[in-house]
Amino acid sequence: MKKEIEMILEKLEGFQSPKLYLEQYVTPSNLAAFIVTNAKLFGDLEIVVDLGCGTGILAIASAILGAFAIGVDVDVEALRIARRNAKKLGIEANFVACDVKDFKVKKRCTVIMNPPFGIQKRHADRVFLEKAFEIAEKIYTIHSAGSEEFVRRYAEKNCFAVTHVWRLTIPLRKTYSFHEKPFKEIAVEVFRIERKSCVSGGQDRKC
Ligand code: SAH
Repeated sequence: MKKEIEMILEKLEGFQSPKLYLEQYVTPSNLAAFIVTNAKLFGDLEIVVDLGCGTGILAIASAILGAFAIGVDVDVEALRIARRNAKKLGIEANFVACDVKDFKVKKRCTVIMNPPFGIQKRHADRVFLEKAFEIAEKIYTIHSAGSEEFVRRYAEKNCFAVTHVWRLTIPLRKTYSFHEKPFKEIAVEVFRIERKSCVSGGQDRKC
């Protein structure tokens, strides 16, 4: 199943003119396929919100596996491509133009995201994690290698727990003119995080 999804995702269009200040990079199709097939096995693919969806690969990959998918991004140009990508595959997915910090959703969902790593703008990934802690039951999120301690601590603080960490190396396609090689291997960590049910005042309650 993973290979088939990967081959479908290979056909998607990427950013036309990527914006460095938004840290726009497309998630490689094998990593997107890896995450959604795992999420499917965990039963986490009902309502999926892709925060910072860019050209839509994670939202579309989730929708291929049956999720009701919503992609959120501030960049309307990227969203136009995301909509085109979904249409080309005949996939239903919803795309919303909005800053992640202002996004609201009524039902608790699964967030699947590849947030900015915070290289251009320090802590840019925090807004994404905070929003995910607000709206999600389960979170799949991609970070640069070495983020584990920070992500675990931040999750605990928000009454969430990291259940899985996958350490992978992914090929990053040349996106900006300062990239010297067509591909660069980068080490990433992918986390599965879930909301804890906390005991308070003798009663089990959801945080
Ligand atoms: N999820 C896509 C793109 C990842 S790049 C993929 O996996 O291929 C990060 C994305 O976050 C970019 O598309 C960028 O426009 C978006 N972004 C950055 N800051 C944002 C913010 N504050 N609100 C919404 N989107 C944001």
